Amino acid sequence: MTIAKSTPTSESAIFSNEDFAIALSQFGPISLVVIQPTSFCNLNCDYCYLPDRHLKNRLSLNLVEPIFKAIFTSRFLGDYFTVCWHAGEPLAVPISFYEAVFEQIEEAERQFNTRQACLMHSIQTNGILIDSAWCDFFQKHDIHVGISLDGPAFLHDTHRRTRKGLGSHASTMRGIACLQEHKIPFSVICVITADSLDYPDEIFNFFWENGITDVGFNMEETEGVHQSSSLERAGVEERYRAFIERFWELTAQTDGAFKVREFESICSLIYSGDRLDKTDMNAPFAIVSIDHQGNFSTFDPELLSVKTDRYGDFILGNVLKDTFESVCYGEKFQQIYRDIATGVRECRHTCQYFGICGGGAGSNKYWENGTFASSETKACRYRIKAIADIVLEELENVFSG
Ligand code: SF4
Repeated sequence: MTIAKSTPTSESAIFSNEDFAIALSQFGPISLVVIQPTSFCNLNCDYCYLPDRHLKNRLSLNLVEPIFKAIFTSRFLGDYFTVCWHAGEPLAVPISFYEAVFEQIEEAERQFNTRQACLMHSIQTNGILIDSAWCDFFQKHDIHVGISLDGPAFLHDTHRRTRKGLGSHASTMRGIACLQEHKIPFSVICVITADSLDYPDEIFNFFWENGITDVGFNMEETEGVHQSSSLERAGVEERYRAFIERFWELTAQTDGAFKVREFESICSLIYSGDRLDKTDMNAPFAIVSIDHQGNFSTFDPELLSVKTDRYGDFILGNVLKDTFESVCYGEKFQQIYRDIATGVRECRHTCQYFGICGGGAGSNKYWENGTFASSETKACRYRIKAIADIVLEELENVFSG
């Protein structure tokens, strides 16, 4: 059995402006709204891209109704969406803040959610402040919890430190133990740096022995104020492939009990026969990101807090005076949209992995290639190509007996 990647076409990557006419009916549906409750983070991880993580800005309660009015009344609203509290450490603001916010959201739902869209909450946290009170809060509001944890202490504490330079692993594990005592399911995001690559067994065993079985890998990326990634060094790509190969072997031994997000998503596309022609990161208003001042952006959430030479910042409007629809006619949105769409088309016509990738994220393309209107990046070679090659090869071995 041969499991084929898609064949790119040879069409030229030169497109006219008419190709990018603003067609609001094709934007959305909103699947994810990332809201920044605070820009502050109580850690100072050395690979973090957020420039304002030392500032104790907090979302004003007066912005909650305008934010949710903008969402519920948008033509981009679909049947359901997730609100993810993130982009700073979300638990650095107290539970009382969220209780007040959630009350206002319920009121906004009563007033504006006439289409009865279903709303779920999630939180992406470093976990160090989790205690019983937070667990009660997560359970009360049925909040999905994602924890940032880079494997065993000797790897995690190399990068995820306090401002005083102290490791955070023990505190994060205390938070995880609290979630487990309360039987709260959670997933983990594990950032892979060059330091991780010699330790697939140690990382896997650490997660497995600690009852952590739902893991996603984020690659250390060059972006925002983090100007270079250890994964860009010479020879690292081969070590990365060996790491993923070994992690696949270890994962396969658990008969599905241990899940790696990257393996799951590629396998599900292969088994279903579905192919992607975009991702939420490059489809306008599939994702909306809103900062603590009510400024909003779309595409990749990591764009909201950064500034670039080519595009300036990526703030498209503010919920107090703009709608998601109105900013689509602005020059800034149109430049970003045109370049992102050009990049996706270039991917479609040049890359045989397009059907399992969907054209990648603009932020990787900008930080590596200097423009959204481009295709391959090191990030996509790691995140898509290397993983797809290994998964396809392993599945072919299984199917060919
Ligand atoms: S982002 Fe990379 S892997 Fe994805 S389609 Fe473009 S070139 Fe291919």
